[in-house]
Amino acid sequence: MEVRLGTLAALRHRMASEKIVVCGGGGFIGGHLVADLLRQGKRVRSVDVKPFEEWFQMFPEAESLRLDLRDKEACQRAVADVDLVYNLAADMGGMGFIENNKALCMLSVLINTHLLMAAKDACVNRFFYASSACVYAADKQTDPKVTALKEEDAYPAMPEDGYGWEKLFSERMCRHFLEDFGLTTRVARFHNVYGPDGTYEGGREKAPAAICRKVIEAKLSGNHEIEIWGDGKQTRSFQWIDDCVKGSQMIMNGDFAEPLNLGSSELVTINQLVDIVEDIAGLKLKRRYNLSAPKGVNGRNSDNTLIEKVFGWEPSTKLRDGLERTYHWIFDQMTSRHNKSQRTSVPFRPQKETRRRSIAQS
Ligand code: NAD
Repeated sequence: MEVRLGTLAALRHRMASEKIVVCGGGGFIGGHLVADLLRQGKRVRSVDVKPFEEWFQMFPEAESLRLDLRDKEACQRAVADVDLVYNLAADMGGMGFIENNKALCMLSVLINTHLLMAAKDACVNRFFYASSACVYAADKQTDPKVTALKEEDAYPAMPEDGYGWEKLFSERMCRHFLEDFGLTTRVARFHNVYGPDGTYEGGREKAPAAICRKVIEAKLSGNHEIEIWGDGKQTRSFQWIDDCVKGSQMIMNGDFAEPLNLGSSELVTINQLVDIVEDIAGLKLKRRYNLSAPKGVNGRNSDNTLIEKVFGWEPSTKLRDGLERTYHWIFDQMTSRHNKSQRTSVPFRPQKETRRRSIAQS
């Protein structure tokens, strides 16, 4: 018993003193992960290619580095002296971005490849890769009345063109670095993640943030109309950011080596998503459906049987609760910008300016 307590104490001590690098720390999920690791008292390095003033969240307690992780030397610098590597860096966005930027999305393969090579050479303890539900075969997602996607449905492979192929290829790289080189790798397939301190305009935003922004624009302008991409009947599940951050750490620190779904199983149509945001905003809008806009697969949901079995846990924050907080954050960003622009008589500023303010507040 004494020996076991000693081992446990040693394990706790090792985990507490671990140094962790979050690649893509200036982005949405990376920023929240850095915040959570710091709350736990961890030593954190945060790396991103964006200029510091564009990071969604930045913390004086973390070591922040601006590096382009497509370069191998930059990856070596990023992983030097760390125990754990989280790779959340990728050139990505919502459906509008990934359908129109397939080559750019595929070039993220350089980031994961060079990070894996550098992590292996530096003998880090563990490596986490943020994959995506976009790895799933398109022919399993044609019906809005979806059967939720199980991990095994990724094969035979026919993922989302561009972005999904890169994710699936990088998953395989992680697997083979584990099998051939003994680098402990972990892979989570994120299903749509939403929350504050992320993109809500500019073309890279995803559906929850885009719908919140459009509803707020309608509310502020008095033009009570909204454009919806597709017929609004396509179905999705949306995962609250805190669940994603918690689940990523569980998967990283756990013993399960195969890719795992990390997503909510609360399925809604895009029309229902708009209903919820309208309800939060307290207004009803006339809906215009843009059938030629990118709308992605018809239906997608996360089957959480496996993560439930492995960890006895699944992401379960109710969509309405998370959306309420996301809506209010975007509302605050847009109205403070609006008020400022009225005071100085200049047009609305780009989101870059908003991000700068959010960094200053953090
Ligand atoms: P994000 O765009 O907010 O963050 C990604 C970050 O990576 C950005 O800050 C970007 O500047 C950085 N980056 C891009 N190229 C880089 C480079 N060459 N070197 C260093 N940094 C670079 O996106 P996110 O929503 O936080 O996504 C994080 C990860 O999760 C990504 O791998 C993404 O593919 C994956 N994912 C996200 C979702 C989601 O719904 N948000 C869903 C599935 C998978």
